[in-house]
Amino acid sequence: MNTLLPTSTVGSLPKPSWLAEPETLWSPWKLQGDELVEGKQDALRAAVQEQTSRGIDIVSDGEQTRQHFVTTFIEHLSGVDFEKRETVRIRDRYDASVPTVVGAVTRERPVFVEDAKFLRGATDRPIKWALPGPMTMVDTLYDAHYKSREKLAWEFATILNQEARELEAAGVDIIQFDEPAFNVFFDDVKDWGVAALERAAEGLRAETVVHICYGYGIKANNDWKATLGSQWRQYEESFPLLQQSSIDTISLESHHSHVPTDLVELLRGKKVMLGAIDVASTEIETPEEVADTLRKALAFVDADKLIPSTNCGMAPLSRDVALAKLSALSAGARILREELGGGA
Ligand SMILES: [Zn+2]
Repeated sequence: MNTLLPTSTVGSLPKPSWLAEPETLWSPWKLQGDELVEGKQDALRAAVQEQTSRGIDIVSDGEQTRQHFVTTFIEHLSGVDFEKRETVRIRDRYDASVPTVVGAVTRERPVFVEDAKFLRGATDRPIKWALPGPMTMVDTLYDAHYKSREKLAWEFATILNQEARELEAAGVDIIQFDEPAFNVFFDDVKDWGVAALERAAEGLRAETVVHICYGYGIKANNDWKATLGSQWRQYEESFPLLQQSSIDTISLESHHSHVPTDLVELLRGKKVMLGAIDVASTEIETPEEVADTLRKALAFVDADKLIPSTNCGMAPLSRDVALAKLSALSAGARILREELGGGA
């Protein structure tokens, strides 16, 4: 990629109202069978078109073909019983009824590879595909089989690596692993979290990203954030380990968050996907605000390693708000690109 400050999103975009209920996580599909397949593809095409026309350089599928960023992947695996549910505390934050691991987890067939081929055919721009990270997958299940978070994470890492290699072969340029759990379970991150992540990314020629955030702008997350004080220093735990890791790019929250920008320095040498768009607010950022957030980060990351992005996914937002935020992101990046003399 030759563009300076190539813009990207973390991944999800709102789904069209004819496909799923808007502004709702885990929203059930409104279509079935062949109509659902066609509807998902149309939504994916629309997501590509909107990103392209609004100046997003690294294009994603907008997660139009999945209900949830973790669950949809797990639904395709064997060894997990979705009928047998237990209530567990997710990310130490909220209780949820989750499926149970009842046997060895395996990937019987590719999960997203056909969708990725469709995305590849829909754009000439670099494409990025998001997968859940091993620790975040473990944290979304009740494990009655391995009875060890580490063992289960290792199995998931192997499965994720199989999927990632096939995504790469389908033409995906950048593979992202979503690990919001890295902001919660610091001992696990150190003991096996980063190692499991590296196992998931092992042998890939595609660029690799890990996305760590404070979650979607939903109530449970907003309530949690209110308890974190005036400085959010959670990244201080994982960044030094990731700086030493084989992962190419780290995606983090910045705009309107209480994350001290100087924590980015802990990643020196890595590419940084910096959140310059707040996904927990419906207010549209001005291009100047976006440029400001990016400019501050340039004290801690070289310009050729900075990727302007969103704080997290935008699935829970209304469509018009999310799309206006995409325009603000690229307009803000353009301001900074001009300042840096890289042209528009
Ligand atoms: Zn996120």
